[in-house]
Amino acid sequence: MIDLRSDTVTLPTPRMREAMAHAEVGDDVYGEDPTINRLETMAAGRMGKAAGMYVPSGTMGNLTALLTHCGRGHEVILGDQSHTYLLEAGSYAALGGIHPRAVPNQPDGTINLDHIEAAIRAEDPHFPRTRLICLENTHNVCGGALLHPEYMAAVRGIAERHGLAMHLDGARVFNAAVALGVPATELTKDVDSVTFCLSKGLSAPVGSVLCGSEDFIYEARRARKALGGSMRQAGIIAAAGIVALEEMVDRLAEDHATAKRLAEGLASMPGIGLDPDTVETDIVFFELARDDMTPDELSEALREQGVLVSPKSGRRLRAVTHYGIDAEDIDTALSALRQALA
Ligand SMILES: *Cc1c(COP(=O)(O)O)cnc(C)c1O
Repeated sequence: MIDLRSDTVTLPTPRMREAMAHAEVGDDVYGEDPTINRLETMAAGRMGKAAGMYVPSGTMGNLTALLTHCGRGHEVILGDQSHTYLLEAGSYAALGGIHPRAVPNQPDGTINLDHIEAAIRAEDPHFPRTRLICLENTHNVCGGALLHPEYMAAVRGIAERHGLAMHLDGARVFNAAVALGVPATELTKDVDSVTFCLSKGLSAPVGSVLCGSEDFIYEARRARKALGGSMRQAGIIAAAGIVALEEMVDRLAEDHATAKRLAEGLASMPGIGLDPDTVETDIVFFELARDDMTPDELSEALREQGVLVSPKSGRRLRAVTHYGIDAEDIDTALSALRQALA
């Protein structure tokens, strides 16, 4: 199977399995797992923050961040196409009493600066209190679009003028950094907290890291505990995360190249709508621009030929490149597509 449904399907590398087998472990709730401590320190360094907290998932990273920044009745400004708004079960509202203010994402993953500013509440007993602005980089539903450091800085300016905090859902922030050729810190220096995933393109089996100041992470540990996300000898899985940070970051460039190859091939096919110039990282959204076939039918026809993609809402489908997918696999997938569309 050529599985292009997501970069979450990546399997641990042999080096990861080796590191997991030999990981030194302890009870992390006592702060005594040396492997987790090492991963957290490394992750914080890569994000340019003072501290890090290992969490089981990106969703829990974002949720612990929101619970730490905001109290009940506070409002978070976030994109209406953001993963946190659309795809995290409304957790911050359900569990934290945090009110979402969803502002339209532009196709490039940004939120218009004037719209952010206009969404910030005045002081008035009728209103929830705005506390936090959340951004996402790269932007998943906006096709892996990346936010530039200049944009991050501009949003920081707004946050500072209004005394707000900023959180970055950086599930794929290393994809953005590699695509831009800058260290990830260029994309995180303007936010108070950032979550990134080890379990996507970086290929570790489990986990994300939330990074921020010492005080922030101290508080976030309480939120993680409350959610049941404090683990014990989890150095076993964190060991793979260390290998991911050491060995798998620069490799993401290969996924961007294969995604580009896929996008260019798709764009040349009649019945497919896609501008390959919009593909900046590893995610390729394309549209099935014909009425005689649904995205579900197309994906089924591909499955029969050993190629998996994800049908999404409307006429859209998503393909994501990752560790284990090479140019030859892309060419095989493209010929399967040509056949399925014929
Ligand atoms: C995958 C993803 C998450 C959540 O990560 P999980 O580990 O699946 O919970 C959050 N934000 C974005 C943008 C993602 O793509």
